Amino acid sequence: MSSRNAHAPEITNQPPPYSGYNAFVCDQALGEACATFGAAWVAAKATTLGAAAGDERVQKLAHDANRHEPELRTYSAAGERIDEVDYHPAYHDLMTLAFESGVHSLAWTAGDEGAHVGRAVLSYVWNQIENGVACPVVMTYSAPPTLALDPDIDAAWGQKVIAEAYDPELKPIADKASATIGMTFTENQGGSDLRANESLAVKAESNGAGVYALSGRKWFCSAPMCDAFVTLAQTEAGPTCFFLPRILPDGSRNAFHVQRLKEKCGNRSNASSEVEFDNALVWRLGEEGRGIATAIAMAQYSRSECAIASAGIMRYALSLALHFCANRRSFQKSLIDQPLMAQVLADLAIESEAAMWLGLRMSCAIDKGASDETEWTLARLLTPVSKFWICKRTPPFVAEALECMGGNGYVEDHVVARLYREAPLNGIWEGSGNVVALDVLRALGRHPEIADVFFAEVAPARGQNGLLDKAIGELESQFSGDGPTEAGCRRFVSQLALVLQASLLVRHAPEATAQAFCNGRLGAEHGFIFGSGQDTDAIHAILQRAAPALAA
Ligand SMILES: Cc1cc2nc3c(=O)[nH]c(=O)nc-3n(C[C@H](O)[C@H](O)[C@H](O)COP(=O)(O)OP(=O)(O)OC[C@H]3O[C@@H](n4cnc5c(N)ncnc54)[C@H](O)[C@@H]3O)c2cc1C
Repeated sequence: MSSRNAHAPEITNQPPPYSGYNAFVCDQALGEACATFGAAWVAAKATTLGAAAGDERVQKLAHDANRHEPELRTYSAAGERIDEVDYHPAYHDLMTLAFESGVHSLAWTAGDEGAHVGRAVLSYVWNQIENGVACPVVMTYSAPPTLALDPDIDAAWGQKVIAEAYDPELKPIADKASATIGMTFTENQGGSDLRANESLAVKAESNGAGVYALSGRKWFCSAPMCDAFVTLAQTEAGPTCFFLPRILPDGSRNAFHVQRLKEKCGNRSNASSEVEFDNALVWRLGEEGRGIATAIAMAQYSRSECAIASAGIMRYALSLALHFCANRRSFQKSLIDQPLMAQVLADLAIESEAAMWLGLRMSCAIDKGASDETEWTLARLLTPVSKFWICKRTPPFVAEALECMGGNGYVEDHVVARLYREAPLNGIWEGSGNVVALDVLRALGRHPEIADVFFAEVAPARGQNGLLDKAIGELESQFSGDGPTEAGCRRFVSQLALVLQASLLVRHAPEATAQAFCNGRLGAEHGFIFGSGQDTDAIHAILQRAAPALAA
């Protein structure tokens, strides 16, 4: 029997919740990119994770983990200093799902061609589930090559860090099934300028060779319940990287204290804290005085992940907007059939696909760069270019997707509001926009061969769109002239990104998508806002390609 209140108005024209889909299977472009970059083998794992993305139960976990924020418990009931963070059970369930799915580790365990691409695909899908958990995931993903700098740490921790398991208990590493790793570099007086770090490590070799005592404070330490951290401190020889376990080998707690949790714009499921070290025992990673280089080597992986994660956020926001507009009518038509809305959605779809192709091409270069110098050079360029560009495009993208959903977009029930708060973050951490754009200049200075590698990469796309050819020509002039200045490098890096994205779409995407991207981003049709292109027949084809498989 219906329980509907006879006096209550019938609710109509409200789209059903966006669930019951598979975020991998319904993403045609993603499947094509997987195959193109040698990671077709990841389909089984990605399909399982893609189903989780559309699972109402998992979606509720993501909601709960962000609604019920972590809390710091500084002291035990007996007054002992414990520095524990309590999370909602949903957070632990999400951590279990992410780590058991290998989102943090597949790049190091797959052993197949395209291992970093395969992991990036999982991360792209994961970022359509929940973004706070993505923080410990990416830090743990980035850690193995840095931990391998010390054979003893590698022996004790290496396999635990890549295990497909989540073990949140605080205990000695020998007793753990798996381990999570955080990074804490940023200090109060400056995060971008790591040379300004003041925390100090002095040799404490009575505890063993390579052991130091670390004192100081860090202004940002996300996921402080990780089992260990990579950190940076001054030594007599200059900034040096260290490994800091929360539990010492004898089972006692290290002198790692959580001062407070930050109250943040978004990313609320993830505890981001300020921490203090009080003669904490730490193990040196790499040479004394070479800590910035060691940290930056680790950051290459985490920066690449910021680009992938932001591409995933774009795709999620797009899917939500497409679903909403397909199920909401206004002025006698579905919103998706209103010509101006179709234009906006198609433009977002093009942007999202371009971000995905650029991100996975970068991951492919990371894979191949292990044995191919040209690809290594390309990865050195693509990592900061992708981090800069994709992360910069995400906030306006999500804002536009939110607006497609009208007032509902601004309301927490519809998820995109959470994505809106999340959207700027990947642009900030692991090197903010300017810092990453300047890193492109640094790469060009240190590796002049980057120019040849870049033009060889885009060469196969020449001759297929006049605007793209012209844009490549303009970049050739810039490379052969004085090159970009510091003050001009945002524009330069943006042009590199657009030409790379256009070349990838021309080579791999349907003609409608590629031509619309070139015309809308490189030509006179270029506008300052999404959806400012011309009405073309291509819009329908672009929307069909992007439309998610909706719930039955
Ligand atoms: C939610 C969150 C979690 C975080 N978690 C961690 C963590 O776990 N571990 C960790 O180590 N850090 C973490 N961070 C810190 C983050 O990495 C830094 O905020 C970031 O690197 C920028 O440093 P800063 O905040 O000190 O900004 P600043 O260094 O003060 O920079 C401010 C602005 O100036 C720009 N700028 C700096 N130098 C130049 C220049 N030479 N030319 C032009 N522009 C410049 C930057 O691009 C930025 O836009 C986190 C940050 C956030 C927001």
